[in-house]
Amino acid sequence: MNAHVLGFPRMGKNRELKWALEKFWRGETNEAELIKVGEHLKKHHWEIQAKAGMDLLPVGDFSFYDHILDTITMLGAIPPRFRWDGKEVDLETYFHMARGDAEKGIPAMEMTKWFDSNYHYIVPELTRDTRFQKTGSRLLKETTTVRDLGYSPKPVLVGPITFLSLAKETDGCSRWDHLEGLADAYCDILAELDGQCSWIQIDEPILCTDISEEADEAFRLVYAKMKKVTVSSRLLLTTYFGGLGDNRDLTLSLPIDGIHLDLVRTPEQLKDIIHKLPPHVTLSLGLVDGRNVWKTELETAFRRVNASRQQLKASRIMIGSSCSLLHSPMDLSAETELDGELKQWMAFAVQKCDEIAALKLAAEGADKPKIFAENKASLLARGAHCHVVDKETRNRLQTITPEMYDRTSDFAKRSAIQKKQLNLPLFPTTTIGSYPQTDEIRKTRLQYKKGELSNAEYKETMKGHIAEVVAHQEELGLDVLVHGEPERNDMVEYFGQQLKGFCFTQNGWVQSYGSRCVKPPIIYGDISRPEQMTVDWAVYAQSLTNKPMKGMLTGPVTILCWSFVRNDIPREVVCRQIALAIRDEVLDLEAAGIGIIQIDEAALREGMPIRKDQQEAYLRWAVDCFRLTAGGVQDTTQIHSHMCYSEFNVIMKWIAEMDADVISIEASRSGMELLEAFNAYEYPAEIGPGVYDIHSPRIPSEDEIYSLLQKALKVIPAERLWVNPDCGLKTRAWVETLVSLKNMVCAALKLRESYA
Ligand code: GLN
Ligand code: ZN
Repeated sequence: MNAHVLGFPRMGKNRELKWALEKFWRGETNEAELIKVGEHLKKHHWEIQAKAGMDLLPVGDFSFYDHILDTITMLGAIPPRFRWDGKEVDLETYFHMARGDAEKGIPAMEMTKWFDSNYHYIVPELTRDTRFQKTGSRLLKETTTVRDLGYSPKPVLVGPITFLSLAKETDGCSRWDHLEGLADAYCDILAELDGQCSWIQIDEPILCTDISEEADEAFRLVYAKMKKVTVSSRLLLTTYFGGLGDNRDLTLSLPIDGIHLDLVRTPEQLKDIIHKLPPHVTLSLGLVDGRNVWKTELETAFRRVNASRQQLKASRIMIGSSCSLLHSPMDLSAETELDGELKQWMAFAVQKCDEIAALKLAAEGADKPKIFAENKASLLARGAHCHVVDKETRNRLQTITPEMYDRTSDFAKRSAIQKKQLNLPLFPTTTIGSYPQTDEIRKTRLQYKKGELSNAEYKETMKGHIAEVVAHQEELGLDVLVHGEPERNDMVEYFGQQLKGFCFTQNGWVQSYGSRCVKPPIIYGDISRPEQMTVDWAVYAQSLTNKPMKGMLTGPVTILCWSFVRNDIPREVVCRQIALAIRDEVLDLEAAGIGIIQIDEAALREGMPIRKDQQEAYLRWAVDCFRLTAGGVQDTTQIHSHMCYSEFNVIMKWIAEMDADVISIEASRSGMELLEAFNAYEYPAEIGPGVYDIHSPRIPSEDEIYSLLQKALKVIPAERLWVNPDCGLKTRAWVETLVSLKNMVCAALKLRESYA
């Protein structure tokens, strides 16, 4: 029986890769030094796995930026704008693809979320002229390295059909026209690896989604070809982030030697597939969650192994992680400040390897390793812990009534009341919440955290920053002001830290993209709000101006999606608990005289399940949770929401269902194209399509903003159009922010005049 993980975190225990990359990009180190860090990390991570008892070690899961970009490189599918010379792709070209070439003004390749995770991959670009050809022999070299270290390597490749399905067709060509060329390049890579290792892992998570007929056919075609060139090594087809569903028969019919199933997300598929498994095929059981921080229930997992043992010889079973451990933090032992008891319930990547090893040992008939007893005890303790179940919160969930989800009046009526109350001009201008987070602001927060500033001193300093932001906005002539969010280092962490049921790690980093990592809060228990979270800041800010001050909150779905969530109750229930806590905050803001409240739902869309048949159910409870936060306010209070992405077509109906009075969305990068969706679906309320891209320091001119607004007016009636940037300004510098906002306000004024 082989034990393995599908991939290991890359960053290193202390994010060594991040620091090395950023130093290299700043020009402080050279290529050789960066490569050395990479070699060291790879070796170290293989050693950890081997020491834990993993039999097969993944090769090619490490990457200097992103493994899809590595695949693009390996296949020679470099977009022509990078002027690749056709030889082995060097690091300079590689990073230009990832980050653009500022010197020559060549834009980076696009980046998007990897299925329903928060990891971003570089999107392959296809044109009619794209030609695939194997470049270099990186996988082979690393495979040899692992063998020389005395381990058994398992090269990992993103599967050809997943690769093609995720690519972007840039000139109207069809991805499927490239199938043959792509298959040949994959075959060249496989042929080189054949015989150098016992198994080759091919990741096809696309099999856990609804695939097209073309993709179905492509699978059959390409895998038949790939089989022909792998004679001595065996192909392990890995699927994860869900079950095979409708793709079961297709998958089982492919000429492969092993199939990996995600039995964390979809345990029920095991029984069915075991019975239909062709006699020569090995089954890899994905039993240890690669997407979360919790200990595996070893007894339950062990029962699944046993069920498989009854049908299959031990040699036809592998035990593994549900997906790559890329999505979980690296090592729990680095957490020295986490509550000892909570820590007992968790397992990060290193600990997950131990769990996999223990399952294998137990399955091979050894006495159950000691870790089983410990595991059982700590999971029992988790269930019984007084902070996990909070009776008051549970009771409160029971008392939610249908009316709590609804505003008193419909939008038309509310809108008339709010227009009178707020007395805003046509095309009101506002911002999304945060203002530049200067070094000074960060320093103040850090000093406070370290105890170097008293609470009073901290508050005074922050109030100073707020006053400055308010003064700037008044001077700019914005219509609806914000306090600027200087007290927040992160829009989810800030709320998590004040809610019961959350805990935080010091080092639980997970790669988001490139060198960027996030450290999601952990939701371990029932959630409630002991005290007001934002009211003081908002009230103070309002006291400085006669213009309306917008209260700023993060919505329940976003808090849920950007945290590690407990797995002992449904996500939906956790989300409703958060919704009630945020609802209390909304009502407190209203009572304190804040007349406009924005509830950000930046993550609503990314939380959507990848299978169509599960999407409706998700959207229903997600939208309900938003409605629950906002449903208690008076008609006079204007509720805003903000979403920072731009593909709305599929969920338009649900955005309308949220029943916010005003939504702001990202739009400038697509030149307002997304507004087509608002044309096709008659969106009833007010909209602020972002008129400038806050992701870049570029200053948009007044004319440019003006013409974007005119475009917007083609689909949005004048009395419902707001003027605002794409997203928060916290990553920007003041210099460009002030000029950009000035241009934005001028564009709005000009438009207003032409309507007067
Ligand atoms: N209010 C938040 C801000 O301005 C919203 C950020 C986001 O949507 N990601 O920073
Ligand atoms: Zn945003």
